[in-house]
Amino acid sequence: MPNLLDKIIIIDVEATCWEGAPPACMESDIIEIGICLLDIQTGEITDNRGILVKPDRSVVSPFCTELTTITPEMVAQDGISFKEACSILRKEYVSQKRVWASFGAYDLKQFQRQCAAMGVGFPFGPSHINVKTLFALKNKLGHEEGMAGALKMLDIPLKGTHHRGVDDAYNIAKILHRILNN
Ligand code: AMP
Ligand code: MG
Repeated sequence: MPNLLDKIIIIDVEATCWEGAPPACMESDIIEIGICLLDIQTGEITDNRGILVKPDRSVVSPFCTELTTITPEMVAQDGISFKEACSILRKEYVSQKRVWASFGAYDLKQFQRQCAAMGVGFPFGPSHINVKTLFALKNKLGHEEGMAGALKMLDIPLKGTHHRGVDDAYNIAKILHRILNN
């Protein structure tokens, strides 16, 4: 069980993608890990950061750049290895001892798949909050809304660029804060 309940880590990953299925020789790789911390007592959102990650098994396609704004040059210049990024989560964010949250199941599944395939230890603990499901349940929607739709319903302006991990993580933190405090 997690033993640090002071802050929740909010995570939003961007990954290499294509219009349809990946090309035969490629696997989807995480290229950005968006992070922030939501303080449970104060509601403050801190430590908002995007870590660019070099893809090992694929390349950033023009389709992916159009969706995320992340270019092959950006990950080549500023990206670190997936293993190193997971190590930052563990060391700087104490990620294995904290509750973590993301919007939907995608981020959890992508981390599980990529960690298993690359032999990297899963950087999170067992307590994961799916903010997309929680938002639907809290508001008795009967269906799950996308992140932009949820923000609109809450009258919270979308900060930054949608589909950039750094900004998505912050916006998801705002939604989670509202759910927990209303
Ligand atoms: P998001 O957090 O919504 O920005 O999406 C996370 C990742 O899911 C993206 O970086 C893509 O790899 C994938 N993804 C999201 N939307 C699409 C889409 N319309 N087509 C293909 N892949 C997508
Ligand atoms: Mg995103």
